[in-house]
Parts: sequence; structure tokens; C-alpha cells
Amino acid sequence: MIKLVCTYCKQECDSNELHTTCGSCGKVLFPIYDLEKAKEFISKDSIEKRKVFNIWRLHEIMPVYKSIYRISLGEGWTPIVRLSNLGKDLGMKNLFIKDEGQNPTGTFKSRGICAAVSKGLELGVKEFVIPSAGNAGAALSAYTAHASVTAHVFVQQDTPSFIRKEIEVMNGNLILVEGLINDAGKQAKIAQEKYGYFDVSTLKEPYRVEGKKTMGLELAEHFNWTLPDVIIYPTGGGTGIVGMWKAFEELETLGLIDGQRPRMVSVQSSGCAPIVQAFKEGKKHAEVWNNSKTFAAGLRVPVAIGDYLILQSIRESNGTAVMVDDIDIKNSMLKLAKKEGIMLSPEAAATITAVEKLIESSFINPDDKVLLFGTGSGLTTPNEWRD
Ligand SMILES: *Cc1c(COP(=O)(O)O)cnc(C)c1O
Repeated sequence: MIKLVCTYCKQECDSNELHTTCGSCGKVLFPIYDLEKAKEFISKDSIEKRKVFNIWRLHEIMPVYKSIYRISLGEGWTPIVRLSNLGKDLGMKNLFIKDEGQNPTGTFKSRGICAAVSKGLELGVKEFVIPSAGNAGAALSAYTAHASVTAHVFVQQDTPSFIRKEIEVMNGNLILVEGLINDAGKQAKIAQEKYGYFDVSTLKEPYRVEGKKTMGLELAEHFNWTLPDVIIYPTGGGTGIVGMWKAFEELETLGLIDGQRPRMVSVQSSGCAPIVQAFKEGKKHAEVWNNSKTFAAGLRVPVAIGDYLILQSIRESNGTAVMVDDIDIKNSMLKLAKKEGIMLSPEAAATITAVEKLIESSFINPDDKVLLFGTGSGLTTPNEWRD
């Protein structure tokens, strides 16, 4: 990493200092790497010999300089499973899921949080703060407990008791907030300003996206340095889709993949679909979604700071954005459990509903190689399996 650059106004800043958002325009900062130098160490052969199977596998293009700060609970390197039974029903030969439910704390949030906590440790941070729909708070509590530092977690009052307990038993300082995730975000910002905590809100600091980037690195390696035709991603704040798009760009510069990119598909619930609406209307930014309502808590994000980045990756890839109804998500959860033996959280199951819709609309062809992101395990949402 040689510097941080603003994705909006191109302002540069020092990568040896802790940063949150761009000091000039307030938008999203990205770490930039010396990829020519990285090329000397990273080749297909050398990667194959590596014995690190977590987010630090390609540490040369990760934001933490010293290995002692690269903590791990075994996040990443999740399996890609072929969905033969569901695929057969849908007439698809090449339908896959990346099962992110096998990460620590049961969701892919562990990837980004691992990267952000590690970088924080390297720069001397002792106290972290986060607004969360639940999963990010659980992941932050796990990694800060592991590193013997502190997490302050702002969650909505209606966060399931199971997740609240999870945060508390891992020593997270839980604070209940009235309102939605953006209201929790305001509280987190106040705590940052007042007490100097490091605010690791989605895309409001430049390191979580690097942890999520590893999903793109892994899937490229898994498919022998080719990419699927379509990637379907359940979108809240959008770190994953934005991170994967960054991964593909870096891999191409490193000479590990060619210019063939997947069409990126963003899925949201019809109860909160600001990105889908902005995509349909051809807008650069999304408008705040009023009265957000969906049982897929990770998708209940009425406004995302990285909206322009999400929309950019969808458009540059010739992708699309779809909304799905909660009732269909629920049915998809049950269908996948029954047919494939995989229990998904609601957010993750939204990708199953989306793939069905996209086959119907002919956006997806029967021959396409399609990868769904199973972002969370159904075991993290025990209440959602009740009749
Ligand atoms: C947070 C979350 C999402 C949304 O991820 P973003 O990177 O915020 O778009 C999807 N699924 C699950 C299970 C989540 O916890």
C-alpha cells in the first residue's frame, strides 16, 4: 500500500496514518498498491504454494504492513459449492454458491472487520466503534476480543436477542439506538468525535473493503484464474460488490486474469431498494429509502455512502439490480435447505430468488456460469426458521 486515494475527488492521503473518509469531500477512500512491485512476489505458481488460507493469503495487496498485526480467526477461503439440484430445476448446469456462512461468526462480515481491526492495531487503535444491523457488530466483538481491545456497538432496538447476546458474550459494549442503521451511524460518529474511537462504519474507513476484496481474489483462484459470467450479491452498504470489483482490477493489473469480467448483480429487498431504484433511473447516487422494512436486516440500509461505487461496478460490468419480495426470500431459504443442505440467512437467500427472476427475464442464460454470494449462515437467524 503506497497511499489512500479518494474515489470521488481523487484527493490523496498518507497510508501511514489512520483515516476514515476523505478530508476534502467526505467520500470513500481506497488503499492503492504498488502493483508493479507486487508482481515480483505474486505469480500463479507462487500463490499455489502458499499455506495461508485466510484473508492474508495475498498479503502484498492488503493494507497491513507488519505480519504481527495480521490477526485471524480463520476467516475467508470459504468453499464454492455447486448447486446441482437447484440448478437442475432451473435448467442451469453451472450454478454455484460461495458459502460465506462458514466464516467466523457465521457471516462474511468477519472478512472486512478482520482487516479493519488489524489495520487499527497496526496504527495503535485501542477502541473501535460501529453501527450495525447485528452481524458487523458480532464480528467486531469477536475480533476485538481476540486482540484484547474494545468494541462499542450501536444497534437498533429491535436487533434479535440472540445477536445482542452474541455481542455481549464476546465483550462488546452494546448500545441500543432508536431508529435504523443510519441513526446508529449518527451515534457512532458522535462517539468517534467525542472519545476518539475508530469508526469502522461500512465504507467510512478504507480497510473493510480490502477484507471483502479477498472474496474476489479467492473466487478467481478457485476457478483457475477465470471469472464466472454472473455474480449475484445481496446489497446493503455494498462493501462486497465494490471490493470484488476492486479485486478484479488489481488482479488484471497483476496479470493474473484477463479483461473478461462478470456481470455484477445487486439484489435488494422490495422493502428497501435504493440501489435498484437508482440503477433503473440511471442516477449516479441513490436517494434515501423511506420506511425501510425487510426481515433481511443486512439489507435494511436506506442510504449508503458508497452508492456511486456500487452503481459504477454494476454499470461498468453490464450488470443489473433486482428487488425481491420478503415472502419469496423466505421460500428460498426453505427451498435451499431442503434441496441442497445449506441453510442461508435471509440476505443470502435473496440471491436464490434473484437468480430465478433473472432466468425468467433472460438476463441469465442456461449456459452461464453463475456465482451466488451466500453471505450469511441461516444459523445466525434462528428466529426466521419458526413457522
Ligand atoms: C451486511 C450483510 C449484507 C450486506 O453487505 P454489504 O457489504 O453491506 O452490502 C449481506 N448479507 C449479510 C448476511 C450481511 O450481514
